Amino acid sequence: MLAQRTVLFKSSGTAAASTAAKAVAASGKEIIDLTAGEIWSQTASSVREGAITAIDRNVNRYTDTLGLMELRRALARKISAETAQPWSADEIAVTSGAKQALFNAAMVLVNPGDEVLIPAPYWTTFPAQIIIAGGTPVFIETRHNNYVPTVSDLAAAVTAKTKAIVINTPNNPTGAVYARDTLSDMAQLAIDRGLWIIFDECYAAFAHAPHSHHPIVTVAPHARDRTLIVNSFSKSLALTGWRIGYLAGPKTVISAVKALQSHTTSNPNVIAQHALLHHLELGDATFQLQLQRRVADARTLGLSILSALTPVPTPAAQGGFYFYLDLTELQRRANYNSQEFNADDVVNALLMEAGVAAVSGTAFGDSAGVRLSYGVDLDLLDKALRRVTAILNTWQ
Ligand code: PLP
Repeated sequence: MLAQRTVLFKSSGTAAASTAAKAVAASGKEIIDLTAGEIWSQTASSVREGAITAIDRNVNRYTDTLGLMELRRALARKISAETAQPWSADEIAVTSGAKQALFNAAMVLVNPGDEVLIPAPYWTTFPAQIIIAGGTPVFIETRHNNYVPTVSDLAAAVTAKTKAIVINTPNNPTGAVYARDTLSDMAQLAIDRGLWIIFDECYAAFAHAPHSHHPIVTVAPHARDRTLIVNSFSKSLALTGWRIGYLAGPKTVISAVKALQSHTTSNPNVIAQHALLHHLELGDATFQLQLQRRVADARTLGLSILSALTPVPTPAAQGGFYFYLDLTELQRRANYNSQEFNADDVVNALLMEAGVAAVSGTAFGDSAGVRLSYGVDLDLLDKALRRVTAILNTWQ
């Protein structure tokens, strides 16, 4: 008999979509997989060199739970440059990806019964981790405001039990990039109502002009003592499999995280730590710039193809590397003809009829959205999006 808590969560919806795509591919059908939350890329030579040198030096032992001090210092320098304010190593925990940073944050902040505000559609792991920590996610709908939560909607959802708000910009899955004023208003709400801010900026490297990413602590320095920054190198350096990220915030939180992490994973993989340290010490931005250029090219190509969609608006795709399709109008027309369907049906049709795997919005709490990743090879993206457009245009 499993623990009762196992009924509270199930496997990540995005992982399930990718598994479904692989199963269809295994049956012999050609599938173009646009489900992945990662960029197809080689590894930066700086990262490879750092890893290989560490292995050749026989590096094989535990580090401090929160990571190598030199790495924490290098991260402090990085965050100081990004936020235009000083950060020190004792405000930083190195984690096994952003996922562990978020998990640590949930476990050290959330008491059983606490509520946490999460703008919806949301990345599927946010509510799952809050629930595992014993809290209750409270979703704030954003579609009516171009996928940006309004402060009045957020304020209306605050209760005596509200402990924190999750802010994810650039947003997965919607691609929304929050403007300075929005972040400033959210920070003020958090201050007025005594809330923590969990600020996930994993896609910060991919804000597409004219949009730019703003760290909330830069916009609202007075909210820094209640903000936890979550970031990783999974997206910005295409290192999803290396599992390396960080949490930055007040020292009291970081020392609680140290105690927690000392009983869960201990330090993140030591070779990944050395690889990243070498990359940061070299300070060469060439690889990341190439990645950003590739993503920008994929976005331009994708938007030109998707602009031919007639029943679905061209997605804004302000940041990240996902096109998030809004099926509302398509559903409205289908309802009118008594042919109801939801995003799962669309994803299934795209898989079976177009051979394109996508993630249904139902994984993000939205039955009217479909997420297509454009972190893939350009030729495949071109082929896949032409098929998606052709099929959806027959549905009107
Ligand atoms: N936060 C968001 C918004 C994400 O989309 C993801 C991964 O898809 C993560 C965190 C987790 O990233 P990592 O691979 O660094 O754990």
